Amino acid sequence: MGKIRVLSEVVASQVAAGEVVERPASVLKELLENSLDAGAASLEVEVRGAGSALLRVTDDGGGMDREDALMALERHATSKISTADDLSSVQTMGFRGEALPSIASVSEFLLRTRAGSSPGGTEAVVRGGKLVAVRDAGCANGTTVEVKSLFFNVPARRKFLRSAATETSHLDHVVETVALAFPAVAMHYAREGRTVHRLAPASGAAVRVSDLYGAEEGAQLFALAPRESGGLRISGLVSRPGVTRADRARQFFFVNGRAVENSFISAGLREAYRQMLEPGRYPSVFLYLEMDPQEVDCNVHPAKREVRFRRGSLVRDAVRDAVESALREARAEWLRPLRTHMATTFGPTSTARPAIPSAALQPELAPAAVPEARTARMVAPTAPPAATPATASSSAGAGEFRLIGGLSARYLLLEGSEGLVLLDRRAARLRILFERLQRGLGEGGVAAQRLLMPAVFELSARSHEAVVANIGALNSCGFGVEIFGGRSLKVEALPDFLGSRDPQRVLEDFAERVLSSGGTHARAALAEDAARRAVAGLAAEPSGPSDERHDRALVGQLLSCELPYCDPEGRPVMLQFSWRELDRKFGRA
Ligand code: ADP
Ligand code: MG
Repeated sequence: MGKIRVLSEVVASQVAAGEVVERPASVLKELLENSLDAGAASLEVEVRGAGSALLRVTDDGGGMDREDALMALERHATSKISTADDLSSVQTMGFRGEALPSIASVSEFLLRTRAGSSPGGTEAVVRGGKLVAVRDAGCANGTTVEVKSLFFNVPARRKFLRSAATETSHLDHVVETVALAFPAVAMHYAREGRTVHRLAPASGAAVRVSDLYGAEEGAQLFALAPRESGGLRISGLVSRPGVTRADRARQFFFVNGRAVENSFISAGLREAYRQMLEPGRYPSVFLYLEMDPQEVDCNVHPAKREVRFRRGSLVRDAVRDAVESALREARAEWLRPLRTHMATTFGPTSTARPAIPSAALQPELAPAAVPEARTARMVAPTAPPAATPATASSSAGAGEFRLIGGLSARYLLLEGSEGLVLLDRRAARLRILFERLQRGLGEGGVAAQRLLMPAVFELSARSHEAVVANIGALNSCGFGVEIFGGRSLKVEALPDFLGSRDPQRVLEDFAERVLSSGGTHARAALAEDAARRAVAGLAAEPSGPSDERHDRALVGQLLSCELPYCDPEGRPVMLQFSWRELDRKFGRA
């Protein structure tokens, strides 16, 4: 008895601050969101001491009169919602009414603001949650919030701050995020007295990205054709196929202007880039989703970063489709000149091919049975071209490509009007083979090889179930599987390309894959998996020396592939070097 107390306002604010105000960057995020909610067209951001010494945001938004300015410092005071019902349709960034009092409770805080209708401005000073002074201030319409000595009265929180470099990179990320979410808003960002970004109002995301990260990076992006379905609008930019980074620093997702993280969006993106990414590489993605606010719950976490969708799978599919079609378009654009000018030179590019049993593919995999010489591997970059150099020595005209020859046994060198293309011969073969197998499997035209002795074995209940659920697809892909009672299966045939693998292992692996991908394996996915595995098994095959006739055929076949840039594991097949890039490297620019 007598042990329970209601916390004082200041303590309650400090507790809430623990959730909203984790580090300087979270303060900055809250301040910027308030300015945007107030309709700012221009934002001025200044930070010092990695945000611990000073964070200042000045906006030209609606501002507040004195009464509102004082109200804003109270807990749960907000102008943005008034009933719980409003929560389901919030359009503003803020709505919880806790940011300002929380921040003011852990810093030396100053609010200077003036509403357009007020005769003058108001300045309020708060120190560690206590209102110290309120006075008149001469200031322009809009609001300035200044946060100094963040966490001066919360040593525990201060201790958890990371290095200045880390905190600064969080601050930069917040600024970038806001800049990308609101391209039309002008921004100036200064850090330790130096301008980092000065951004003019931009007409759209593409311009803003270039202003923020440079024109060169902007040129690597491809715009999504804006699309709308089921009340969901998607637009944005993705990096061209093959252009990736080692981190996710250029992945931004916005829902109704709010930067979010959501597993459905990530899943859609992953599906769209399936096969195109090496492990550990990430595309640049700037995705803007707009939907009825009723469709999304932003009140999952105080920082409002995570959101929940009412129809998550709809969002996932829409993201996948939008990104997939942009990538297809980007590919087509990149390949158009290659395809038209190479088709005539390099042979057949017809995509209508019959299913091909593995034996017929062998010449593809090893054009000549001469293993790559060990020494050639080690001195690859300096080895002389193994192929006959092209005779015509004039450089390629607009839109034309010329096969120059082989570089060691591994690469082919092509010249186009825009620069050089380096092609990895083995990766190209894997891509060609993979797509043929995949197509063959998808059409059910795969040769089956009967086992000398049917294999009968038991699988675990889970694996058995997974195989049985897919038995139709398996059997149309060259498997001969029968249900044999209980948890037993009988296998009479395996697809030709699997060679003499142990049928039980093959099916266990398959079941594992089905289970880990969460349910029934669609036929196309099954075909893709099988083909990837088959090709991976053959990846170690050495390739023969370069031979011009083969090389031309290889390029022709590669260009008729769906995804000619990358092998089935996402490694690049072709690298492009523009003349501009080369000139710059040679100091000619
Ligand atoms: P919330 O944003 O969740 O409403 P805050 O504590 O962040 O809560 O802000 C409280 C209120 O103060 C807001 O609802 C808004 O009315 C007012 N406010 C805060 N910052 C600004 C600003 N930069 N310009 C105008 N009004 C502001
Ligand atoms: Mg707010």
